[in-house]
This record gives sequence, C-alpha cells and structure tokens, in this order.
Amino acid sequence: MESVPCPACHTKNSSIKLRVPDRFSAEDETPFVLVECRKCGLLYLNPRPIEEQSGAFYENDAYNPFISAKTEKNTFDRLYDRIRKHNNRSKRKLIERHLSGPGRLLDVGCGTGEFLAEMASVGWQVRGIERDAKAAAYAVEKLRVNVVRGTLDSMPSVEASFDVVTMWHVLEHVYNPHKTLMQIRDLLKEGGLLVVAVPNAHSLDAKIYQQNWVAYDAPRHLQHFNFKSLRGLCEMHGFSVLKKALLPVDSFFNALMSEKLQEQKGGSSVLRPLRWLRAGIVANTAVVLGKFSNYFSKPVGSTLLVVFRK
Ligand SMILES: [Zn+2]
Repeated sequence: MESVPCPACHTKNSSIKLRVPDRFSAEDETPFVLVECRKCGLLYLNPRPIEEQSGAFYENDAYNPFISAKTEKNTFDRLYDRIRKHNNRSKRKLIERHLSGPGRLLDVGCGTGEFLAEMASVGWQVRGIERDAKAAAYAVEKLRVNVVRGTLDSMPSVEASFDVVTMWHVLEHVYNPHKTLMQIRDLLKEGGLLVVAVPNAHSLDAKIYQQNWVAYDAPRHLQHFNFKSLRGLCEMHGFSVLKKALLPVDSFFNALMSEKLQEQKGGSSVLRPLRWLRAGIVANTAVVLGKFSNYFSKPVGSTLLVVFRK
C-alpha cells in the first residue's frame, strides 16, 4: 500500500470521509479509507494498493466487466449482460449525435470489447486497450475486435489520429489521471471527442448506501468524481464540456448491487424482497433526479456521462 496526495490537485491536506469494504473479500477484513481533499473536494482512496500489485484485486470471477469471459453466469451476471447491451446502444447513439459519420475510435479500458463490437457493426474503425489479459483475449478471439493488451503507455505514438476516445468507467481506476488525459489529448484529432463516464459521488444512490455503495468498489476505484471535479480535471488538459448525458440503467445496477452488498455485510437475507423493492424506488428516483439535475451545474445522476471536445 502507498499513501498519496490528492490525485487531482496534489495537495496532502485531506480528512477521512468513509471506511469502505472490498465487496469481494471476507466480512472481517480491515476496510479501505476514503479521504476528501480539503482543497479541491475530490474523494480518493488513501492509502491505496501500489499499481504493480493492483491487478490481483481484479482477479475475481464475480468482477462484472469481465463476465463475458466466464463460462457459467448467475442471475446478476445475466442482468449485467442485459444492462450492458442496452447501455452500448445508448453510448453509440450518443456519439452518432455529435459526428456526421463513422470515424476512428479508441476505447481505453475496453474490457471484453462489447462496446467496440457495437461501434464496428455500424462501420467505425475501432481499437481498444485493456490491461486484463483474459478480457483482452476474449475481445480479440470471440468478438474479432482490434484490442491491444496493456495501458495507454503500450500504444504506439500515433499522434492526433482518433475522432473519438472513450473511457467508460475507467478514469476512477487510473493511477495517474493527469498523465492519462495528456496521452488522450495527443491521440485525439483537433475538435475530436473525449467521452467519459464515471460514477457520480454526489448521486442519490451514493448518499443512501454510504459505505455499501457498490461504485466505491475499493480498492479498484481510486478516485470519486462529482461533475465539478471531473470538469475541472478535463479542462486542465484542454477539453471543454460539450454535453452532459445519462446512463439511466446504471441507477438500477448500482441500487441492486448496493443492496446485495449491504446484505452480504451483515444484513438479513429474510428482508431480501424488501431490499429489491427499495432498490427499485431508489433507482427510479435517481433516474428522475438525474434527468432534471443535468440541466444545472450540479448533476446528481448515478453516472456522470460527459462528452468533451478537444
Ligand atoms: Zn485535491
């Protein structure tokens, strides 16, 4: 583990905000600590696993983004699969609204490659980067999409060659968000789009589920953005906000998975039907609030989905 200053503004001055469990580990393990930066307000994991050892925390069969590579799927896996299919169509439509025709797209942290396959199906030239070997192999062998195993450091330096770079739930995982955004800036054409989706630390579901909010996902998620901190970070690297959008189904995923985590961390299984009911109420409310708040400067939707222009 390493102690770190704020990943956004590099200040060391912070206060403890929350102690959060690893959803894949036993109940009695020491929780991880989330601190809030006193200067910029970013919430981040401190201390955090050192980067070279972080891969081990992803090596769990239940880790949702890689479930395609699993042979047997449970109810939650199948639900996740359906949500993802729906989301990938919405993501494609969002991008198509801003560009006249198919171009070149890079998906950073592409997982098992389903979004790339969706874009390729309508004529986009796609490329993905994925750190997890099994997920990258699945994308190449099963979906026949062009995926490089590694990080942005492994990309050949082809400057300003992409029309769109996407990062779906990736920026909260990266060890050096400044470096990542600088590399993306170099890879994007002038006027190109950067599409970022991250969990919203100011969402209704985050407030309700507290330490059991599934999107804290320690120690895989290192920093937790709200709209202001996300915009601030991207603006620092020359990106400006073009559009705020929504991924409404994320609200349902977050609420259900957070209820599941709450039960796993000491809740009674007898109350499960009530938990599912509450999840439905929380998710529906989050969707409605998210929609309206997107018109203001403090969006509270479960996911922050922002299209930036270089
Ligand atoms: Zn800070």
